Amino acid sequence: MRVGERARAHASFPWWQPDFAGGERAALAHLASYFAGDRAQRYKATRNGLCGIDFSSKFAPWLAQGALSARVAFAALRRHEAARGTNESTYWLWFELLWRDYFRFLHLQHGRRLYRACGLNEAAPASGHDPEAFERWCAGRTGHAFIDAAMRELAATGWLSNRMRQVVASYLIHDLGCDWRAGAAWFEAQLVDYDVYSNHGNWLYIAGRGTDPRGGRRFDPDRQAAIHDPDGAYQALWACVD
Ligand SMILES: Cc1cc2nc3c(=O)[nH]c(=O)nc-3n(C[C@H](O)[C@H](O)[C@H](O)COP(=O)(O)OP(=O)(O)OC[C@H]3O[C@@H](n4cnc5c(N)ncnc54)[C@H](O)[C@@H]3O)c2cc1C
Repeated sequence: MRVGERARAHASFPWWQPDFAGGERAALAHLASYFAGDRAQRYKATRNGLCGIDFSSKFAPWLAQGALSARVAFAALRRHEAARGTNESTYWLWFELLWRDYFRFLHLQHGRRLYRACGLNEAAPASGHDPEAFERWCAGRTGHAFIDAAMRELAATGWLSNRMRQVVASYLIHDLGCDWRAGAAWFEAQLVDYDVYSNHGNWLYIAGRGTDPRGGRRFDPDRQAAIHDPDGAYQALWACVD
């Protein structure tokens, strides 16, 4: 898979040592290793992390490739709970897998309507699309250090934490006023765990053009940086990458 290859090419990423080898054998080895430790027991507290391997399950690349099924992951979670106990974290991991299913069912129900600029919300988008702003966003050159760090991480590794996916998607839609579908297409071209249902569903959700009655989600990038990168370590890590 691309993420390991791309990251290994950068000697300056010593923390990034995933073994995202393809195939079912590697997927099952990763699953066993994940549940052998206590990572699932701490998932709720760590899941908003930005750097490293352990803060989330990293099941997604194998799920996206079809090397791991959600049922197999769920069965392993249930066995882990039987052995180690159930808590908020193990519940939350299951809940996240339900989001994955939800976006599949959303596509079954609405199909092509999800791909219109207005999505399921009949109101036309308020603004057009700014191609230059979009190019700067893709290249990690918006001028906002937190956003740029994430876009550079994405381009260098094919990976981005869920938190940063939300923050950069919100920035493109709500701060730069770009077409959310362009962002979804850029993620499609970059993500090592690209999955059409989860990708498009999450973009719709942040754009406020899916089924959520509360409308779109805007994440204030300054506030997000203060909460999730208070010492600027994440921004410093990716600042040097072109
Ligand atoms: C704009 C945007 C685009 C995204 N694009 C993709 C994509 O192309 N492919 C993809 O697999 N996920 C996508 N996600 C969802 C989520 O970011 C990733 O599934 C998650 O970060 C993968 O890391 P993990 O396996 O360590 O997840 P964990 O946090 O460990 O979660 C376990 C599993 O639950 C599922 N899951 C978790 N969060 C979500 C979610 N928000 N939506 C749907 N399923 C979820 C995934 O299958 C994940 O592997 C996207 C999220 C956003 C905000």
